[in-house]
Amino acid sequence: MTDEPIGEFELIRRIRARASSHPGVLLGIGDDAAILRRSPDGHPIVVTTDMLLDGRHFLLNKHGAEAVGYKSLAVNLSDIAAMAAKPVAAFVSVALPKGSARSVAEGLMDGMIPLADRFKVALAGGDTNGWSGPLVICVTVIGEAVPPGPIRRSGARPGDAILVTGPLGGSLLGRHLHPEPRVIEALALLDRAPPTALIDLSDGLASDLGHILTESGGLGATLETDSIPIHPDAERSSLQSGRPTIEHALGDGEDFELCLTTSPEAAQSLLNVPPPGVSLFRVGTIDVEPGIRLRSRSGKVSPLPVSGFDHLTRGEATDHAT
Ligand code: ADP
Ligand code: MG
Repeated sequence: MTDEPIGEFELIRRIRARASSHPGVLLGIGDDAAILRRSPDGHPIVVTTDMLLDGRHFLLNKHGAEAVGYKSLAVNLSDIAAMAAKPVAAFVSVALPKGSARSVAEGLMDGMIPLADRFKVALAGGDTNGWSGPLVICVTVIGEAVPPGPIRRSGARPGDAILVTGPLGGSLLGRHLHPEPRVIEALALLDRAPPTALIDLSDGLASDLGHILTESGGLGATLETDSIPIHPDAERSSLQSGRPTIEHALGDGEDFELCLTTSPEAAQSLLNVPPPGVSLFRVGTIDVEPGIRLRSRSGKVSPLPVSGFDHLTRGEATDHAT
């Protein structure tokens, strides 16, 4: 499919006409740089960026530009949520495939703008290029910390409970294209019982919990196999792969649920009365002994090899582009 040719300036004009706004953005698209208001209370700013590549993180021809636009903003909002911060402004840089620059750019916006509006994030700038290569999209989101946040990966303590906000596994069957960023959930948790550590599940619970353990000074964890919420997609993936469902739940990645640690008392209070609209599952406990262990219903404990996606060690082709 080839579009009518469209100039860079005309494309930016169209993007500007659709861009969402935020009171913290004093000047968005149209000048050499955006101008953001300083946080009135002097809270720190939080910045995250993610780059998605056609053929690696998605297949443009199969998934369509709208899904790519949605996902490219959603994964950044998920990282802001994982700091328990409030998103303010998004910056979007694209390398558009030349023959279809116009329809791809509009499709990206179709996916991105409703999400930006829903989370009240301004589309405040970016960069637009055309080239003969595949689509590349890089989104940066600026957020504002909310005391007592931002919440880092590094605060877990032995004895803390480990919780997740939703069922895990099998997202590569398609769910990975439209994750729900847990921004509201993170802020509700911050308000009720600030987590000691927080991360979003992009690489899989085994791998991402591993980051909390490493950053918290080399701790370990015991997961209760029967307590891990399994997504129906993980069951379907297991039927296809022949591997146990639990492996999919722990290792598939791209769930974009939150994983948090809190004191056991705070966890009990949260589980008894969760913040409105927030699902919580206790999956295990932080230990002093390094490594991740799985405890079965019978009480048998076995070590878990740390798995999950690592884009540098896995093969070139289409990891997430299924
Ligand atoms: P400059 O040449 O000074 O870098 P550009 O022509 O690249 O300016 O961009 C003009 C304006 O359009 C800037 O405000 C820039 O942030 C914005 N912009 C360019 N591309 C995009 C895009 N894909 N999404 C959002 N804003 C964009
Ligand atoms: Mg520029």
